[in-house]
Amino acid sequence: MGRNILEYDICIIGGGASGLMAAITAAKTGASVLVFEINPDLAHKILATGNGRCNFTNSNINSAAYHNYNYDCIENIFDQFGYEDTLKFFYEENVLYDKRGDLYYPRTNEAATIREALVKTATDLGVEFIYERKIKSFNTVDDGFVIDRDINPVYCNKLIIATGGNTSKIPGSNGDGFYYASLLGHNVISPLPALGKLIISDRSLSKVSGVRTKAKVNTYVEDELIEFHEGELQFSEDGISGIVVFQASRCISRALNSGKKAWVECDLIPEYTEDEVADMLKNRLENHNTADAISGIVPEKLTRYIYNKSQGDLDKCVKLFKHMTFIPDRVDDKTAQVTTGGVDMSEINKSTLESLIHPGLYFAGEVLDVDGICGGYNLQWAWSSGYVAGLHASER
Ligand SMILES: Cc1cc2nc3c(=O)[nH]c(=O)nc-3n(C[C@H](O)[C@H](O)[C@H](O)COP(=O)(O)OP(=O)(O)OC[C@H]3O[C@@H](n4cnc5c(N)ncnc54)[C@H](O)[C@@H]3O)c2cc1C
Repeated sequence: MGRNILEYDICIIGGGASGLMAAITAAKTGASVLVFEINPDLAHKILATGNGRCNFTNSNINSAAYHNYNYDCIENIFDQFGYEDTLKFFYEENVLYDKRGDLYYPRTNEAATIREALVKTATDLGVEFIYERKIKSFNTVDDGFVIDRDINPVYCNKLIIATGGNTSKIPGSNGDGFYYASLLGHNVISPLPALGKLIISDRSLSKVSGVRTKAKVNTYVEDELIEFHEGELQFSEDGISGIVVFQASRCISRALNSGKKAWVECDLIPEYTEDEVADMLKNRLENHNTADAISGIVPEKLTRYIYNKSQGDLDKCVKLFKHMTFIPDRVDDKTAQVTTGGVDMSEINKSTLESLIHPGLYFAGEVLDVDGICGGYNLQWAWSSGYVAGLHASER
């Protein structure tokens, strides 16, 4: 090696949630670790998680909460580093937690607490960082990788790609990892936005913009009911959102991408059957006009919307309360919290996350074709996969 070549046991591309966890895990074993981060600072995305509060794990972590056919692999990874290990890890880094139902947040209610704990731990362990350098090439050599051979080359024995996905407007979410993975011979399942708002081109939606209401959201693909979620539905100028919609969005993304018909049906009074709603409204009609008869069930703006759409017809009102249907154009990649798709898990060792194509190459986090539902599942995947990749990459 020439004098100007920097040498490390492990290089990690991506200083986000999974990359920092991989760096910390590897550095704890004594490995020398260099992290490339394209942004001027580390783990920027963590600050936006959980509305700035960071829902960093969940006590009900299980493979069924993840969308991937490779459940064995997901279980394998959580067996090595599960949610209790996450709590222990952060507790040891001075992070106290607050539990709400199954969901865990830092007790400070500030996502920065999680980010700072990771950055400080990595720095204290001697992990080094190179910021704002876009890697252009990799050369595989007998016992490792040379990164950017022509400009300030860096040699490493093991390489971990932890670049996240390509959705969200947060800088650094540009899908570079998918490109790197394909450069290194991996198949990438088409990355699509998930856990995002559904964009709907229906101008009348502007009339209900800002409304939030309880609903059950059924997702249909080609006339088949695929899944349903209950919770708060939110309307905006150009679409619908809220956790119920986010949960449905992955299935919609996949369906639309494969040219299938997909739509959602919102039941705005899930606690009553259609017959019960019809009877209730008919009874009310004895003393009220239609506009008054349908009031007091959903927020006023939405009641007016239903009244106008139904043109005052009571049967149509019942249908709208129980089956308000939207055909989404797409899932909004600006608000999407996660990417579904990514590096094909069938080409990855299920216990170590090492590439089956390139020995010494590992993947962690969202760059892999694993995505979870809302509720701390995606960060837990980042911690667990980062830990596993970091640990096995440090084995000599
Ligand atoms: C608004 C929002 C809210 C969310 N809330 C939650 C929540 O509350 N709970 C939860 O579990 N999940 C949440 N998520 C999802 C969660 O943040 C991600 O799943 C998780 O951060 C993925 O970790 P990662 O390490 O794979 O990717 P990231 O955390 O995105 O890290 C990837 C890193 O790689 C860097 N990078 C990219 N390309 C390059 C390159 N070429 N060279 C060098 N560096 C590069 C990026 O800048 C970034 O720092 C949320 C996501 C968003 C967008």
